[in-house]
Amino acid sequence: MNEIIVGIDLGTTNSEVAIVREGRVTVIPVAEGVRILPSIVGVAEDGSLLVGEAARNQYVLHPERSVRSIKRRMGEDTHVTMAGKEYSPQEISAMILRRLKQIAEAHLGDTVAKAVITVPAYFSDAQRQATREAGEIAGLEVVRIINEPTAAALAYETGHSDARTVLVYDLGGGTFDVSVVHIEGDVVEVKSSHGNNHLGGDDFDEALVRHALKHLKDTQNIELSHAPVAMARLLRAAENAKIALSSQPYATLTEEYLTERDGVPIHLSLEVSRQDYEELITPYIDETLAAVHIALSGAGMAVADLDEILLVGGATRTPLIQKRLEDALGLQPRGEVDPDLCVAMGAAIQAGIIAGAQTPTILVDVTPYTFGTSAISMRDGEIYPYCYVPLIRKNTPIPTSRSEAFSTAYDDQEKVEVSVYQGEDPDALNNIEIGSFMIEGLRKAPAGNCIITTFTLDINGILQVAAREKETGLAQSITITNAIARFSGEKLDTARTRIDKLFGDDVEQKPAQDTDSAVQRQRTEAQALIEKAERMLPSASTENAEDLIDCIETLRDALTAQGSVDLKPAMDALADLIYYLEA
Ligand code: AMP
Repeated sequence: MNEIIVGIDLGTTNSEVAIVREGRVTVIPVAEGVRILPSIVGVAEDGSLLVGEAARNQYVLHPERSVRSIKRRMGEDTHVTMAGKEYSPQEISAMILRRLKQIAEAHLGDTVAKAVITVPAYFSDAQRQATREAGEIAGLEVVRIINEPTAAALAYETGHSDARTVLVYDLGGGTFDVSVVHIEGDVVEVKSSHGNNHLGGDDFDEALVRHALKHLKDTQNIELSHAPVAMARLLRAAENAKIALSSQPYATLTEEYLTERDGVPIHLSLEVSRQDYEELITPYIDETLAAVHIALSGAGMAVADLDEILLVGGATRTPLIQKRLEDALGLQPRGEVDPDLCVAMGAAIQAGIIAGAQTPTILVDVTPYTFGTSAISMRDGEIYPYCYVPLIRKNTPIPTSRSEAFSTAYDDQEKVEVSVYQGEDPDALNNIEIGSFMIEGLRKAPAGNCIITTFTLDINGILQVAAREKETGLAQSITITNAIARFSGEKLDTARTRIDKLFGDDVEQKPAQDTDSAVQRQRTEAQALIEKAERMLPSASTENAEDLIDCIETLRDALTAQGSVDLKPAMDALADLIYYLEA
C-alpha cells in the first residue's frame, strides 16, 4: 500500500483536503454533505478552539475572538490578536491545517503525517516558507508546495491526451492568479503566471458593503463604518447577496436590527440589481483581464494561441467574469470541475504521484518572480553599486540552479556582502530585498578575486543562495536574514505546543467531529442562545421583549420540530437581535 499523502488547498476563504485512492480523487467531507472548511478560526468563550463553520458563526458575534483571511498575512512578520492573545499567521494557518489533518484521519482511519499544499502562483519565497512552517506546526510534513493554477490544470487534465494551451483563471476569496499552462502528453508546464495577492471575491463583498453604507448615509444619515459588529454583519449580508446575484437578477441586502437611533431599531433592506452590482465590480474584473494579457505576453503567446480557459475559485461563478472572458478571448470558459474543489483535487493528484500512486502526469512549474543580486557596475557613465543582476528569471521552469561569477572591487578585500532581491527592476534598490549575507575571510588578492554565487530554487519555489571563493573553495553557509522573520526550529516547537494545547491533549486520538456531535453541538448552542435571550427579557423594553420572544419562539419551534430542521436561520436571527440589544 502507498503511504498516505493528502492534498490540501489552504485558501483565503475556504480550505479543502483531498486524497487519491485506487486511482480516484476524493475531496474528504468536513461534515455530512460538506467538503469545504471555512478558513476561519476562533476561540469560544469557554476557551475552546473553533475552526471552520463554528468560527464563522462566532465571527459575526465576536470578531475580536475570531480570525479570517489569514492567508493575506502569510509571510509577514506580524501578529494577529484573537481573544486577547497574539498569534503569528503561521499559527493561525496551522490551526486550519491541523483541523484538516484530523478530518482526513477520521475519514481514512489512519494517521496523516504528510501533505502537498497549494499556494497562489504569485506567493513569494517568504509566503511559501510561511506555508511550510504552518504545515510543520500542524504536525504535517509538507512534501511539496505547488501552485494553485498548476493543481487546477492537473485536476482538469485527467482523461485528456491532446496537446493544448490553457489559461487558468483563478479568482478566490482573497487572491487572483492567472497562468498560461501548456499540457502535452503527460507533461503539464506552466509557461507564465501573473496575479494579485490582494484581489478576490472579498473585494466584491466590500464593494457591496460600501454601496450599502452610502445608501444608509444618503437615506438615513447613518454612519456605520466605525461600528465593527454592524460592519461584520453587513459583510455577511453582502456575501449572501453577491452569491444570490450569480443566479438571480436581483438580491436584497437584509440585516435586521443593524443599529439604532434614539432607541428605534434601524433595519437594512436594500435591493441591488445584477446590473448595479456588475458596475460596482467592473474595476476589479478589468484588473484581472489586464493580468490575463500580461500572463499571455509573459508566455510569448497571443489570444489566438489559447485552446481553453479553466475556471478556478468560488468567485468565478460570477456571470460577468465568464462573459468578459468569453468576449475578450473568444472562448467559452470550462467549468465542469467544481471551481471550489479542483485545486484540492489537483494537490491530491500531485500527492498521489509522490506517494507512488498510479497517475501518469508529470509536473513542470515555473517561478513567478525573477531573483537576483546586486553588483557594482557602470550606469549612465558612472559607477553605481546597485545594478541588478538577475540569476533566475521569471517563468524559468523549476527546480533550477544558476551560478554567476562576481569579482572583488578592491585589493585585499576580505569580505563581500551578497544581497538577494526579488523583482524585475534593473535597479536593485527598486526590487524587494529578501535577504543578505556576508562571505568573510577571503584570501589576500588584488581586485578581481572571483566569487561564485549560486541561486537554487527548489520545486516548492524556495530559494537558497550560496557564495564560494573560486580559488580557495571557501564557502559561506547561508541563512537568508531578511525583514521577514523566519521561524527558528525552537519557535516552531513552541508554536506546535501552543496549538496542541488549544486542540486539547487528546487531539491525536480524537476523531473529527462526526455529524451527530456537530448536530448536538448546534442544539446546545441554540439552547444557550435561548437562555441568554431569556435572561435579557426582564430588563428589555416592551418592544424589544416582544422581538426577543418572537425569535425565541421561532428557535424553540425549530428545536422541537421533527426531522432535520435547519436551526441556523433561527439561531442567526436571535444572535443578531441579542447583539443589537447588547450593543
Ligand atoms: P475560494 O477562495 O476559491 O474558496 O472562493 C471564495 C470566494 O468565492 C468568496 O469570495 C465567495 O464569496 C465567492 N463565491 C462563492 N460562491 C459564489 C457564487 N455563487 N458567486 C459569486 N461568488 C461566489
